[in-house]
Amino acid sequence: MIRRGLARLARPLFLARSLFWDEVRCPGCGRVAPAVPDLESSLCPDCRLALAPREGAACPGCGQVSDMPPELPQALPVLCPACQESPRPWGRLLCWGAYEGRLRELILAYKFEARLDLGRQLQECLLAAFERGAGTFPELCACELVVPVPLHPRRLSWRGFNQSRELARLLARRRGLPIRQEALVRVRRTVPQMELDRARRAENIRGAFAASPEVLAGRTALLVDDIMTTGSTLEECARMMRAAGAAQVHVLVLARA
Ligand SMILES: [Zn+2]
Ligand SMILES: [Zn+2]
Repeated sequence: MIRRGLARLARPLFLARSLFWDEVRCPGCGRVAPAVPDLESSLCPDCRLALAPREGAACPGCGQVSDMPPELPQALPVLCPACQESPRPWGRLLCWGAYEGRLRELILAYKFEARLDLGRQLQECLLAAFERGAGTFPELCACELVVPVPLHPRRLSWRGFNQSRELARLLARRRGLPIRQEALVRVRRTVPQMELDRARRAENIRGAFAASPEVLAGRTALLVDDIMTTGSTLEECARMMRAAGAAQVHVLVLARA
């Protein structure tokens, strides 16, 4: 009897303890982690470490990491052979990390399970990728507006949010750049790119976007997406934006396959 009474008491006490002693679960791995009051994200140290930026010399055209010696600077102003042969329709491409491990898990949870509590950490990674890139390539500082890769309205109403737009918010605020979604809209519904091979992706996405000359003419835009796989979607977006008169388009993605 007494034991049952104690058990009944224990639960509210446990809840009170977690409320008052700041014991929280890490949104990345679910383990109980001590909250760090000065950080807005509540990821545990392990998850923070797992989200460290990708190291190595990346091609400024496609983000492909080359097997150059590690003593060379991280981002070389030299295009990889593939980008030299067929130039991308953008200036620079920046990315935070490889689309694998913890970063991939967090993006998938954020996007498909609507784990919006992960948003702040992912926003910070995106901002940091831009800051790093702008340190190496000053032309990125010429960006005047942020353009998230749009979702089709039906996909948007199903998911409830455009992950690229949400991820770009912190960057836009910190850099004082407007997010101009109306610069690029999706005019055609497409089969999800994930379901297609490389050759069919380009074909699938062709004509899916319309870009606004009023917003883009003569301006330098930063095109933002969460993931780059083959780059077909980003290439189509950038091409349409340039055709609408954009002076330059740079690309920023959180993760690259
Ligand atoms: Zn964790
Ligand atoms: Zn390249």
